[in-house]
Amino acid sequence: MTNNGNMSLHIIHDKIMNLINGKLVESSSHDYHPIFDPGKGEEIGMVPFSSKDDVDKAVESASDAFESWSKLPMPDRLQYLFKLKVAMEEKKKELATAITINHGKTLTEAIGELDRAIQNIESAISLGYTLFKGQYMRSVAVKIDEISVREPIGVVGIIAPFNFPIMVPFWFIPYALVYGDTVVVKPSEITPLGMMLVGEILQKIFPPGVVNIVNGAKESVDRILEHGDIKAVTFVGSTNTAKYIYAKAAEHGKRVSASGGAKNFAVVMPDAKLDDTVSNLISSFFGSAGQRCLANANLVAVGDVYNELKRKFVAASKSMRVGYGLDEGTDVGPVVNENALRRIRGYIEKGVEEGAKLILDGRDVKVERYPKGYYIGPTIFDEVSPDMVIAKDEIFGPVASILHVRNLDEAIDLVNRSRYGNASSIFTSAGGVAREFASRVVAGNVGINIGVAQPMAFFPFAGMKESFFGALHPQVETLDLFTDRKVIIERWF
Ligand code: NAD
Repeated sequence: MTNNGNMSLHIIHDKIMNLINGKLVESSSHDYHPIFDPGKGEEIGMVPFSSKDDVDKAVESASDAFESWSKLPMPDRLQYLFKLKVAMEEKKKELATAITINHGKTLTEAIGELDRAIQNIESAISLGYTLFKGQYMRSVAVKIDEISVREPIGVVGIIAPFNFPIMVPFWFIPYALVYGDTVVVKPSEITPLGMMLVGEILQKIFPPGVVNIVNGAKESVDRILEHGDIKAVTFVGSTNTAKYIYAKAAEHGKRVSASGGAKNFAVVMPDAKLDDTVSNLISSFFGSAGQRCLANANLVAVGDVYNELKRKFVAASKSMRVGYGLDEGTDVGPVVNENALRRIRGYIEKGVEEGAKLILDGRDVKVERYPKGYYIGPTIFDEVSPDMVIAKDEIFGPVASILHVRNLDEAIDLVNRSRYGNASSIFTSAGGVAREFASRVVAGNVGINIGVAQPMAFFPFAGMKESFFGALHPQVETLDLFTDRKVIIERWF
């Protein structure tokens, strides 16, 4: 373990622990792997690749806890969620620091992530008091009334990606708990630190077994997918894994919501307000070092906006400061690990090979105090054609491709040819154009003069095509995913 200058002692953990049956415990596995501070390129601890046994213990404790948790009156259950919200607010700075240290995003971005996680607690509480109630109709026939109630389904498995280590689990955890379900969470093995600190909070608030956290990789995930006592599985991550999870969980009779990867387009019309547009674009393309599933990756210039847009976009991108996420003034932190750095550099080389014009090259960026960090600066390719690999693949780094089309129809056609459908944005001053784009584009989250089209917690986090597998999306649609409906038809003689 290296000494990490900015880290409060509390955040340092030699070993990432699991939360099982209300206790923070070591995994029974001896298979430990290092986790990193990508800004410094240094090891900060070890994460276990937990075994099937660990998952089985977590599921057993969640099943036992379900008996009493699901029977608690809703107003009583919600008190625990209010406590969770308060505790997360109180620990926000510490949790954000942990996210930054293990993921690399800036502290401001990490705080934004936590704000959204907390908003999901609020949204879940509101569902508990409103839509969980069910329906009633008197006299559906002579002297017969009909009632529909919601019931929790049991244990829910939650599998998370590296890029929003706390927010993504919170797209699901608070909802499941409000409905009376219990959970087993499997954080990313790359960025487990944040959820481990959340585990310390959960441990103090909830009865043992209601929330369990098992750290690990494929073996833990496979056990979650196979386990007969897990009734629903949620997944957020890359498309290939999403397809695997969707098929395997369904094979084992589970409900599944699987969100996949993305390649998002920003379409800029000639009548866009360019200065506002560009400041939105740079934070979408390069914020979180491009490692957001809602990050724009392809910039589509329509008609004669092309030259001026390009000039302003490049100038603004150059002014972004690449640096350590905890340092003030940093706009772009590192990418998450050495593999990501290698993959992104590989794509840049590929773009050059394919004949795209590299007009801003972030590969040489130097962050003086942190020479071993995994940094790559904003990178822009011009003259990209839609069939190039860099225009099609999810690079998941700070790399933008500029494509030039003649009109809105060509832009929409370009967007709709993508295998992905996570998000798409248009920048324009014309309401009619924006409306047409929003109705014709095949993408789950549409931004109109918004670069990161992120739905608030009280809307579904949508996603289409290969960006989503299933019917019920994260956030509010978990109401149907995590509950059963029971219909009672009653007559009294
Ligand atoms: P990933 O698919 O590599 O990993 C996600 C989770 O799946 C991790 O917990 C990991 O342990 C597990 N996993 C990985 N490979 C597995 C396998 N073969 N079998 C079983 N489990 C496996 O994704 P990532 O790199 O952590 O996250 C980045 C990806 O997530 C990007 O593609 C990004 O677009 C996507 N993402 C999508 C959304 C969305 O809402 N659509 C949100 C955030 C991130």
